[in-house]
Amino acid sequence: MVLATGNEHKAEEFEDLFAGSKFKVFSAAKFGGMPKVIENGKTFQSNAYLKAFALSKQLKKKHWVIADDSGLEVDYLDGAPGIYSARYAGTKASDSDNLDKLLADLDGVSKSKRQARFRCVLCLIDKDAGTYYFEGTCEGSINLKPKGKSGFGYDPIFIPDGYKTSFAELGESIKSQLSHRAKAVICCKKFFKKKF
Ligand code: IMP
Repeated sequence: MVLATGNEHKAEEFEDLFAGSKFKVFSAAKFGGMPKVIENGKTFQSNAYLKAFALSKQLKKKHWVIADDSGLEVDYLDGAPGIYSARYAGTKASDSDNLDKLLADLDGVSKSKRQARFRCVLCLIDKDAGTYYFEGTCEGSINLKPKGKSGFGYDPIFIPDGYKTSFAELGESIKSQLSHRAKAVICCKKFFKKKF
């Protein structure tokens, strides 16, 4: 199965998450690279599909393909940044620009109104163009200021439910058990178990 991403960090994360499954995940880099995709879908599903479809077409449907799209939804902001998570503060924004904008948008908002979740949608396309979706969420809240060094994106300000510290403080081993991506991959692995 080939992962539709140009991001090697993501490819390694998925290789680990799919360990022990019927399918081994390979990065698109090993199969001619990820084609350029304009992610202009209006949902996580449609953007995941656009990526999976573009790679499946490039590989002439010779391999199974999987793509993900994910982001952070804040209830107080009606679900923003959502599909715009990577470019919340602008098309050239860095992770810390995005995080700063989110904190500014929530300035003065009390702790009880800062509920949020990470959402991940996987799109799987088989060799016959059969298309399947799997979803995972991780509920939590937005901290008042960034804390911790590990991870990426909004990790320093996201506190998963049941914990008092941010994803960036909890570290990869705990995050990989709780994360939206891990939960979406569990759904996909269950599908493989049923199908094969
Ligand atoms: P992508 O679709 O996985 O590339 O994620 C889009 C954006 O959502 C990233 O650039 C991050 O800003 C945010 N995001 C997605 N997953 C995570 C996560 O696990 N931690 C922190 N930020 C995330």
